[in-house]
Amino acid sequence: MQAEAQTDFLIIGAGFAGCVIAERLAAAGWKCVVVDRRAHVGGNAYDETDAAGVLVHRYGPHYFRTNSQRIVAYLSRFTDWHAVAYTIKSFARGRYWSFPINLNTFEEYLGRPSGEAEFAGWLDAQRVPIDHPRNSEEVVISQVGRELYELFFEGYTLKQWQRHPRDLDAAVCGRIPLRMNRDERYLTEEFQALPERGYTALFGRMLEASAGVEVHLGVDFAEARKRWRCRHLVFSGAVDEYFDYRFGPLPYRSLRFEAESFSAGQLAQRAAVAGKPGFWQPAMQVNYPELAVPFTRIVEIKHATGQQVDATTIVREFPKEWQRGEEPYYPIPAPDAHAAFQRYATLASTESQVSFVGRLATYRYYNMDQVIGMALAEAERLLRRYGSQAT
Ligand SMILES: Cc1cc2nc3c(=O)[nH]c(=O)nc-3n(C[C@H](O)[C@H](O)[C@H](O)COP(=O)(O)OP(=O)(O)OC[C@H]3O[C@@H](n4cnc5c(N)ncnc54)[C@H](O)[C@@H]3O)c2cc1C
Repeated sequence: MQAEAQTDFLIIGAGFAGCVIAERLAAAGWKCVVVDRRAHVGGNAYDETDAAGVLVHRYGPHYFRTNSQRIVAYLSRFTDWHAVAYTIKSFARGRYWSFPINLNTFEEYLGRPSGEAEFAGWLDAQRVPIDHPRNSEEVVISQVGRELYELFFEGYTLKQWQRHPRDLDAAVCGRIPLRMNRDERYLTEEFQALPERGYTALFGRMLEASAGVEVHLGVDFAEARKRWRCRHLVFSGAVDEYFDYRFGPLPYRSLRFEAESFSAGQLAQRAAVAGKPGFWQPAMQVNYPELAVPFTRIVEIKHATGQQVDATTIVREFPKEWQRGEEPYYPIPAPDAHAAFQRYATLASTESQVSFVGRLATYRYYNMDQVIGMALAEAERLLRRYGSQAT
């Protein structure tokens, strides 16, 4: 057993929440110890080069996008950017479809050319009038009607969450845009780009920026709280774990990733499907909404990273029930789960020397930019409270 050491801030979790706070506090002169139970920094945004030489996102694809110039400016201190127009498709009824739904999708559905006016009229006839959609089924059928809902959303959502869309918050499917034109971009944010040398390189530069950050990998919270005394704890792990599951474990959804790599020779036979040499499928992400297919999507991240490499790697994503000890990827976006979290949130609010930050500690799905924004705000709050050590 090592002797207890002293630090100013003990930070649990080396994902965006923990690393951003550590960087900000260390820049102000405070000593920060960052620990993570994993063997690497970066949390779920971690990327690495696989055996085929392809840069892959180990915990599922991470498409960076934001409308916040402040967050872009902050991250740009640690990385340059590779601009990306993220594209996805859907595969159903034995063919690829343009997705999110746009005029091209409508033409594919009709099997002939059309125009915005015909598409708008068709949608008007399909839509189920619902003034205030209360769940994911209502939000989609009120936008595109039942047929496209069943084709693209119902099965995908059931597989992803093992809950019917009518039992999920409206925001789950409401996040996906519907376009009357031929705009095929998946996302709507102004800034869409990946760190030029990958996320892991970005995290490395962030943590090296100030001398005050010490990182310990393969260390979990239970061990860390014995090894370090601190004036303030920043916790970005799961809030139910912090409180020893006092009210029982919160529900999560987990994932299994299955990667497959292809050499340039193997890819030659896929050129007609992919539409360009060196790739396996026609877009970065293809959704598989049909229930007969056990996975929800196949991601070929090389489309987005722009990496110049002959081989490629695709990753199939299988949603699964979460068991204690496994990665809790997604909090469940449903009213019963929010209610269970509220009991922990009330306990957390009484811990004055602890900050609960990030997606697990606040039990909510956040995109990376939202977590970075949350972490910057918390670092500012801590600096107002404790002041700056920098001279
Ligand atoms: C499959 C998937 C795809 C995603 N795609 C996107 C996307 O395209 N774009 C986007 O913006 N966002 C995406 N996200 C969300 C993104 O992953 C999060 O916004 C971001 O990772 C949150 O950062 P965080 O620091 O809160 O959590 P994490 O990245 O999960 O980091 C938390 C860290 O804490 C560590 N930890 C937890 N408990 C303990 C403990 N007890 N002791 C020690 N260490 C502990 C964990 O090991 C982990 O490394 C995706 C998420 C998933 C699951």
